[in-house]
Amino acid sequence: MRSRKLLYLDYFASKQELVQHLINQQDNQCYLCMEPFTKGNPPTVDHIFPLSRGGTWAIDNLALAHRVCNQDKDSRVFYEDGTLEPKRRRRKSRYHNRSRNSLLVESLVCYNEYINLRGSF
Ligand SMILES: [Zn+2]
Repeated sequence: MRSRKLLYLDYFASKQELVQHLINQQDNQCYLCMEPFTKGNPPTVDHIFPLSRGGTWAIDNLALAHRVCNQDKDSRVFYEDGTLEPKRRRRKSRYHNRSRNSLLVESLVCYNEYINLRGSF
């Protein structure tokens, strides 16, 4: 029989106690970049399987990560081999790249026309 997933509040009196436990368990290292936590770059509680995708506050779904690492992971999940799923492409940056490329093409076309024009004089 599968045991019910215990939420962290079943184990710990507060979030602070949870964080202290995880700091010890993770050797004071971020589980995403493996760099240590510092005063200037303190840990945040991350949901390994994101809340937005059905994750819970179960203790085995929680890990500490730097805020930037946490934000970078966003709502991505890990594959079974331990790698993160790729970032979802944002329409904005795709558009940005495309428009930059087309600008480059346009300026090349202009340059070629300019060379052709010069050649005809
Ligand atoms: Zn990190």
